[in-house]
Amino acid sequence: VKRIAVEEHFTSREHVSYLYSLMDKKNLPSKGIEDAGNLQPEVRWLKSFDLADNLPEAGTIGAKLIDIGAGRIREMDEAGIDVQVLSLAQPGVQSLDDRTAVTLARRINDELAKAVMQFPGRFYGLATIAPQAPAEAASELRRAITELGLRGVLINSHTRGEYLDDEKFWIILETVEELGVPLYIHPAEPSPDMIKPYLAYPGLSGAINGFCADVSLHTLRMIFGGVFDRFPRLQIILGHLGEGLPYWMSRIDDHWLKQPQTKKLGKKPSDYIRDNFFVTMSGMYWHPALLCAYLALGADRILFAVDYPMEPNLRAVASIESAPICTIDKEKILYSNAEKLFRL
Ligand code: MN
Repeated sequence: VKRIAVEEHFTSREHVSYLYSLMDKKNLPSKGIEDAGNLQPEVRWLKSFDLADNLPEAGTIGAKLIDIGAGRIREMDEAGIDVQVLSLAQPGVQSLDDRTAVTLARRINDELAKAVMQFPGRFYGLATIAPQAPAEAASELRRAITELGLRGVLINSHTRGEYLDDEKFWIILETVEELGVPLYIHPAEPSPDMIKPYLAYPGLSGAINGFCADVSLHTLRMIFGGVFDRFPRLQIILGHLGEGLPYWMSRIDDHWLKQPQTKKLGKKPSDYIRDNFFVTMSGMYWHPALLCAYLALGADRILFAVDYPMEPNLRAVASIESAPICTIDKEKILYSNAEKLFRL
């Protein structure tokens, strides 16, 4: 059985150098960061890069992120993962100023396309764009798909507190729909207006809860904002088995019906989640959660993913292999859904 993992991350020295440039170096320890400047404090992976030369320490997550070559392939082989669909590590280029972000996104897409060509059939790529410059983001997306052969695009949730239901971003969504590629909405920390209560305890703003809260809010804003009535063929991918939404679909519908101002939608919120969304197993290796997504959305809407190198390949593989799901549906989740969606 083939295994295709679809939320797998990389970075480059240049990306690291730009992220460090956002921070006030006076307040930084000699190596890595704790919490500084306007960089989201949950970007833990950055800590394994040396501030002076932007190189990672051996054996760290940073070292794995920067290796889009033999080391990564070896770890894939050890876990029986045939293909990784690669995307730039969070926060992408969304924290940078417009001009820097647009230029860096172009160079990152060129680099990614090169890595994909070096390992044909093992790597595919998702484009990086700078939503803070919507027109440039749309044209870079078009170039990345039509000229570089990338298979979709990934956005790290809000861009400086602004979400994709804002019509200024719709030129991006229009282009995504026209190109017929999926848009992965990957977590970021909650937006500036939302994050304060999360900062009371370490970790709360990240994978423990903040990521899921922010992306599920983002998704509901898009649905309630009529994005999928305007772009009915748009296909969105959510990680972490749908960021809690499969568990909530029925309650969302029930209470949406009581809100007269949202009744202008063409369908129930849960219908959009079923028709316009795929969810991946990234970072979620718990059968009760998998079975909830499986029952709520069906096997055709679930994709295998690890979230390498933030999470271990072997744990993700063991989780899907031991899941109480029939072989035909496991094959959909492990590879055939991804082959269709990304046209591999
Ligand atoms: Mn991830």
